[in-house]
Amino acid sequence: MKQRITVLGSTGSIGTSTLDVVRRHPGKFEVFALSAATQVEALLAQCLEFQPRYAVMASAAHARLLAEKLQQNSAKTVVLQAPEALETIASHEEVDAVMGAIVGAAGLAPCLAAARAGKRLLLANKEALVVGGALFMETVRNHGCTLLPIDSEHSAIFQCLPEERSTWARRVHSIILTASGGPFRQRDPATLHEVTPAQACKHPNFSMGRKISVDSATMMNKALEVIEARWLFDMAPEQIRVVLHPEQIIHSMVQLQDSSILAQLGTPDMRVPIACGLAWPERIISGVEPLDFTRLAALTFEEADAQRFPGVHLSWQALRAPEGTTTVLNAANEVAVDAFLHERLRFDRIHAVNQATLEALVPQERPGSVAALLELDAQARAVAARMAQRWAM
Ligand code: NDP
Repeated sequence: MKQRITVLGSTGSIGTSTLDVVRRHPGKFEVFALSAATQVEALLAQCLEFQPRYAVMASAAHARLLAEKLQQNSAKTVVLQAPEALETIASHEEVDAVMGAIVGAAGLAPCLAAARAGKRLLLANKEALVVGGALFMETVRNHGCTLLPIDSEHSAIFQCLPEERSTWARRVHSIILTASGGPFRQRDPATLHEVTPAQACKHPNFSMGRKISVDSATMMNKALEVIEARWLFDMAPEQIRVVLHPEQIIHSMVQLQDSSILAQLGTPDMRVPIACGLAWPERIISGVEPLDFTRLAALTFEEADAQRFPGVHLSWQALRAPEGTTTVLNAANEVAVDAFLHERLRFDRIHAVNQATLEALVPQERPGSVAALLELDAQARAVAARMAQRWAM
């Protein structure tokens, strides 16, 4: 039986890498639905190649345009409009697996819909877990969802952890997330105010979407990953450590109680964790060349410099604060990154906006529903927008 797949965010960096792996295995996977926000031509090309039952676009105008173009090509794909349609294609009874590759909190509701429907959920959209936290994991547990991490660090940890989850508490000492340090690892912190969006989006090892590229440059990406790891693996904040590893060959590690450390290694290419998630527990060809150890110069490690990367520490701060604080942090960061990408905020002030928003908005009660999470997210965006305005260029 082929696995029927919905790819949320199919036109992005993770979405296209997912389809690249799927394309190599026509006997194993069938694309049920695809989604995008604005890239009509890219989604059209994917629909013509994979012939999904449904394609979802974010706005009515984009949906109309895609439907017209599909009709001109005599394609049968039905076009629907987000946001409700995203939940429909994520939870449809004929779907086996969902790739959550939308960027930002916009992915929360459809990923939760997939979890509630008990799907196999391949989660790249880390912001969904940072926003949803406890509620997300409760939904996964209560509805028999199989949650498979796609972020390369979390996929590495998932592969290194003992298979029997009930043994983690007694066997696992800590987890060690590796970080590349991004494009500014060696840059003089005093010059960070000059960084342009183009410079921030030029990652040394990966070609990624613009938001995650900026997050990698500030290392807020690692902050989000610390929070993601806390929820995925049920670790206390102090059990999660971060170490810089510029070569990105070791994707992350698990330290066991006897001080043995297990690491997962590989060529830095997202198709490896994607293939791992798509086939788990089987293994399939990802299209990625394996490591050639004779050509590896060295594996190096460094401490993350708190002056250059103050954002990383906000993760532990937010995890120790009242529940909902990680929702606030994520919203602030999305607003700050967007302002930076639109040249309204200096690069070095992204952190200032994040920190000031955390100080200004302390959640008063546990956000126990999607509506409460989205309400808190909206409040935090409003506060962060004021902060970004205050520090505008
Ligand atoms: P991209 O920006 O490349 O792609 C995002 C996708 O989501 C696109 O298909 C985009 O559509 C769609 N989209 C954007 N905004 C919305 C919205 N409001 N509603 C619905 N759809 C939307 O991002 P990436 O692929 O780089 O990242 C996706 C997720 O995976 C992020 O959460 C990121 O943190 C995570 N991730 C990414 C990695 C990478 O290597 N890229 C590595 C690990 C995790 P359109 O193209 O039409 O704009």
